[in-house]
Amino acid sequence: MMRTQRPGVLRAEHIGTRSTICGWVAHRRDHGGVAFLDVRDATGLLQVVVDPAKAGLDAVKQVRNEWVLRIEGEIKARPDGTVNDAMPTGQVELVADSFEVLSESEPPPFPLDDRVDVDEILRLRHRYLDLRRAPMQRNLRNRALVNKAMRAAMDDQDFVEVETPMLIASTPEGSRDFVVPSRLHPGSFYALPQSPQLFKQLLMVGGFDRYYQIARCLRDEDLRADRQFEFMQLDIEMTFASQFDVQTAIGNAVRAVVDVLRPGDAPEEIPRMTWRDAMNNYGTDKPDLRFEMRLLDLSAVFATTEFRAFAGAACVKGVRVAGQGEASRNVVDGLVERAKQLGAAGLVWMRVRDVDGVATLDSPVVKFLTAEEQSGIIDALSATVGDLVLIAAGEWKTTVGVLGQLRLELGRPAVTEGGLKFLWVVDFPLFDGLADDGTPIPASHPFTMPNPDDLEILEIDPLAVRAEAYDLVLNGWELGSGSVRIHRRDIQARIFALLGISPEQQQQRFGFLLDAFRFGPPPHAGFAIGIDRFVAIMSGEENIREVIAFPKTQSGADPMTNAPSAIEEVQLRELGLNIRKAPVKS
Ligand code: ASP
Repeated sequence: MMRTQRPGVLRAEHIGTRSTICGWVAHRRDHGGVAFLDVRDATGLLQVVVDPAKAGLDAVKQVRNEWVLRIEGEIKARPDGTVNDAMPTGQVELVADSFEVLSESEPPPFPLDDRVDVDEILRLRHRYLDLRRAPMQRNLRNRALVNKAMRAAMDDQDFVEVETPMLIASTPEGSRDFVVPSRLHPGSFYALPQSPQLFKQLLMVGGFDRYYQIARCLRDEDLRADRQFEFMQLDIEMTFASQFDVQTAIGNAVRAVVDVLRPGDAPEEIPRMTWRDAMNNYGTDKPDLRFEMRLLDLSAVFATTEFRAFAGAACVKGVRVAGQGEASRNVVDGLVERAKQLGAAGLVWMRVRDVDGVATLDSPVVKFLTAEEQSGIIDALSATVGDLVLIAAGEWKTTVGVLGQLRLELGRPAVTEGGLKFLWVVDFPLFDGLADDGTPIPASHPFTMPNPDDLEILEIDPLAVRAEAYDLVLNGWELGSGSVRIHRRDIQARIFALLGISPEQQQQRFGFLLDAFRFGPPPHAGFAIGIDRFVAIMSGEENIREVIAFPKTQSGADPMTNAPSAIEEVQLRELGLNIRKAPVKS
């Protein structure tokens, strides 16, 4: 037997027993000629005492960090004064009577402790060493627990796990595809799936009723801290289901995850908010509800104003920044700059000060406002002495967007309690805007069902049409999205016509789905949760790379394997590919 126990599990109850453990030397201290080794494996650390004066133990003098040892000895209580309560095994130590070096290690290129202030490229180049660190061990174990809890929740709800292919034709998620050249069909390419979207819809046509998959999705997008080229989703689809049924099923999966990783923090019911309310009140479609700071409407206050900056504006909104009334001029000027950077024409700030016992606005612009307007602001924002008030005016989406971003930047740092605020944002618009030629730009894929109540205005006022589309938001992050799908040919035809997708293009891009829909497509709806982000939030990590075993850098490279890299001339020839000399910039 290689080992009798794993080092991290040994406790006071094992005192007096014999034990053989295996692991890496995490630290070594020498004290009075005796070597104290912290030996690490996946279960944790155990202190091992090796006295080189004992027969056969002299070789411990050569042992260095990250060497792999097998050690046999007796579990003893640590002597008085050396108990370490910060360590789960801190009551005991293994006193060695023999050990064997299973493998040696060069000095590691960075210290393998809990600190993360090591250059990330260096960590990724030696990810196998980085993974030995406790935070990475914990994060990847969390990830396994999340997958397990979600699988169990979906199984319990009678969902069937089905795997969909990786080499496919293009999917309609609206990102750039990764493509794979075909050797057997030179000049032809597979696309890697941006999501299993079309296949899961085909599974519904195929009578599967309730499908799920822990699916890998690939999108060739510019990378940010919360993005990777490849990422994992809990992907689901249901037939004969409304958006509420989908939200219930996903809610159960989410609760199952929280119950495992943060027992007691699971929401009873996930609240719902319309997209319009989210935008109006928080200036974003993914509000962080861990703090309030709503954007409040001041249009009525300034309906007849003569103050140029607000007169005639489509939208005037304000936000109260509690207790920041005496922020320095530098800070408030910084906020004005930030607002302009975000696209606002300007930002008006006012301090709320006590003048003869009355809350009074103080700002260079106050002299342009009537007394009613001034008291109107204080009332509408419930502002009190000591507050700072920020007001922006202009086109609706920009105005709420700018104030929403300022709300986030000013309010989020004050959030100390790490609660979990889930939210369903529902009734997203079907279209994001109009292209230069007047064609509506779909907010999601073209199979998203319009709200039945808005069907009559589909062609007349497309931008006012709500979609049966919904997002799940957690602490201001978009955790996932989904929709009810179009299963009726007449509605689908109207959408394609609006989007200017010709019958030939329809056939070429998703002909197989449209063909399938000729044979009794059931009503269906679905959703996908981004697992990387969910695990990161549940693990208290800001960056999803911390919860991915082998992530790419922000430039999409893997410093360990050197991917992406050139391929051999013979491979190119087999694939019928020629590489152009200079990379073509699009
Ligand atoms: N396919 C969508 C996505 O990947 C999710 C869905 O609509 O079910 O975002």
